Amino acid sequence: MLKPKCLNGSQCYGFSNIKGGYILPCCWCDKPNYHEEFKSLMQEHLKITNVDSVESIIYSKEWQDFYDILVNRPEEAPSLCQTFCSGVTGKIVTYTTPKGNEHERRK
Ligand code: SF4
Repeated sequence: MLKPKCLNGSQCYGFSNIKGGYILPCCWCDKPNYHEEFKSLMQEHLKITNVDSVESIIYSKEWQDFYDILVNRPEEAPSLCQTFCSGVTGKIVTYTTPKGNEHERRK
């Protein structure tokens, strides 16, 4: 069961400075190995420098679709969300693979 902390007020928005700057649903999303999972929110027209207001990002179709996944189709949510907001308790540990990719898992 997914319990999105970005929707219950216990996690604030994140920011990625990659390629000009994007707002992300939470700070955990701003890890290079997870950017692919959030690519729908990191499109050119959603870049901070290409909008007039933060609201135009948050209320965009892409963001609303993302929130719809979290609430109504949690099985399609990014693996990051499954790890950090599954409601499962346990310490989250970060490890690096031999190829240098960073991952998190519960211990
Ligand atoms: S990990 Fe996913 S569900 Fe949890 S706060 Fe971040 S974006 Fe929201």
